Amino acid sequence: MVNSQKCSMKFVRKKLSCREIGIDCSYMVTASSEELVMQTALKHISEVHIKKPEEISPELKAKMKSNIKPEQGTLWFR
Ligand SMILES: [Zn+2]
Repeated sequence: MVNSQKCSMKFVRKKLSCREIGIDCSYMVTASSEELVMQTALKHISEVHIKKPEEISPELKAKMKSNIKPEQGTLWFR
């Protein structure tokens, strides 16, 4: 039996870049959920931009959260 039908699956990922929160850096993170984006971006920021965790303010976190954008894509299966 041959199944030549092509299948596609739409997906939405979350995206955040340093530039969007006012940092001049080409870093960008995409992940499957907002929580994962925040977690990954915070790790990058604390490693590269803000070395002291106490300087990562709630305002910065709020700014990050509000700049997380959905990114749509399509996966194709043959
Ligand atoms: Zn950065």
